[in-house]
Amino acid sequence: MTPIAPLALAAALSATSVDPHVTQLAAAVDPARMQATVAKLVSFGTRHTLSEAQSPVRGIGAARRWLAGEFAALARQPGARLQPFEDRFTQPPAPRIPRAVEIWNVGAVLPGTDPARAKEAIVLTGHYDSRGSDVANAEVDAPGADDDGSGTALMLELARVLSREQPAIAVYFVAVAGEEQGLNGSTHLAQRLKQEGVRVVAMTAVDMIGSSAGQDGVHDDVSARLFSEGVPAAETEPQRKLREALGGENDGAAREWARYVKRVGERYVENLDLWLMLRRDRIARGSDHLAFSKEGFPAIRLVEAHEHWDRQHQDLRAVGGRAYGDVLAHVDFAYAARLGRALLAAVAELAAAPAPPAEVRLGGAVSPDTHLRLALPADPRAAALVLYRRRADGVTWQRATRYPRQAELVLPDVVPDNFVFAVATVDAEGRESLPVYPGKLE
Ligand SMILES: [Zn+2]
Repeated sequence: MTPIAPLALAAALSATSVDPHVTQLAAAVDPARMQATVAKLVSFGTRHTLSEAQSPVRGIGAARRWLAGEFAALARQPGARLQPFEDRFTQPPAPRIPRAVEIWNVGAVLPGTDPARAKEAIVLTGHYDSRGSDVANAEVDAPGADDDGSGTALMLELARVLSREQPAIAVYFVAVAGEEQGLNGSTHLAQRLKQEGVRVVAMTAVDMIGSSAGQDGVHDDVSARLFSEGVPAAETEPQRKLREALGGENDGAAREWARYVKRVGERYVENLDLWLMLRRDRIARGSDHLAFSKEGFPAIRLVEAHEHWDRQHQDLRAVGGRAYGDVLAHVDFAYAARLGRALLAAVAELAAAPAPPAEVRLGGAVSPDTHLRLALPADPRAAALVLYRRRADGVTWQRATRYPRQAELVLPDVVPDNFVFAVATVDAEGRESLPVYPGKLE
C-alpha cells in the first residue's frame, strides 16, 4: 500500500471555508422576533401540559393553537418550502400525568431534495410547556419565558430563516409539550419517527438559551453548553464490544454531532464559546434529547452556560426582596439569538452536506502505521474526504486533513493506539458530513 499525500498541508483545524450564504442566513436570526414570540407565549398565563385546553386566551390549548397557526403562516409565505407538521396523541396516565391528556407537538418540516436520502432528517425541538414550583399545579401562572419559551421561539425563527432553503435532507422544527411531566411529547415524536422509518442523523433539544446571568453571579453572554452522551443509550452488545476494543467512550454519534455544532457554530459566530460537556445532561436532570437517545438517534442539548434557579420552575413571588419566576425581563434575546445563529449554521451545513462514509474500518493494531478503509457513499456530491484526528488524550479534534475521494487512507508512522480518527465527506463547496468513527476493526 502506498501512502497517499494529503491534498493540502493543512495541519491545523478549520481549513474549511466560510459559506457567505450561511453567514447571511445566520445574520437573519432576529432577536426582536424571538422576543415577540416569547412575550406571546408568556401571555397565555400557564402552558402546563395539564392546563386549560379550551380557553382562547389561557393555557396550553391556546398556546398550541397559536403556535400551529404561526408555523402554518410561515409555510404559506411566498417561496417557502416548509410543510406544517403535527404530532397529536392522547397521553395515558403516567407519573406526573394524573389523567389522560391530549398532547400536541407542532412545527414544520423543510423537506430534503435528495431522493436517495429521503428518509434522513435533522430534528430540532424546543418545549413550549411550562411549570411553576409544583409540577402538579396546572392552574398557577407559569410564564416559562426562558424554560422553554426561548427554545420554542428559536424553532419558529429557524423555520422562518431556513424556509426557502433546499437542503439535501429534511429538517424538522418542532415545539413539543409534556417535557416537564416526563418528556412525553418528545418520546412520542421520537418513537413515531422511528416507526415511520425516518433516520434522524442529528437531533438537538434547545432548552433554555436566554439566561446570560446565572445563580452563580456570573454574567456571561458568550458561552453555552452542548450536552451529549459519549456512550449511546441504545448501544448493542456488539457495539459495546467494539467500543471497549477501540476505547470509543468519547465518540458516540451524539458526541460527534456536538463537536460538529461547536466547530461550525464557532466558525460562523464571533464571541462564542460552546462547551463540549462530556455528559448527557446536567446532573440528575434531562431534556427532550434523552427521548431521542433512547431510540438510538444521535441527540444533544443546547443550553445556556449559567442557569438562574430563582427563575426556573418557580411560582411568581417575592420573598424578602428576592424575586422568583421565569419572566420575560430576564431573557437576554441578543444572547439567545447568538446561540440560535450557531445552531443554524451547523444545521444549514449538515443538511446540505453530502452523505457520509457508509462505514469506516480501522486497521493497524500493533503497527507503526494507521490504515483506514472506507465504504464510500454513492452520493456523487461526496467529492473528497476529511480525516479528523486527535491524540487519545484529547477532547476536540486537533487535525483535519483533506484527501481525494478514495477507499483507503494510510498514515505512515501514526500508531493508531495513540490517536482517535473519524472520516467525513465534503462537497465541492466545502460542506462536510458528520465525521464517522470506525465501526469495525480489521
Ligand atoms: Zn426546559
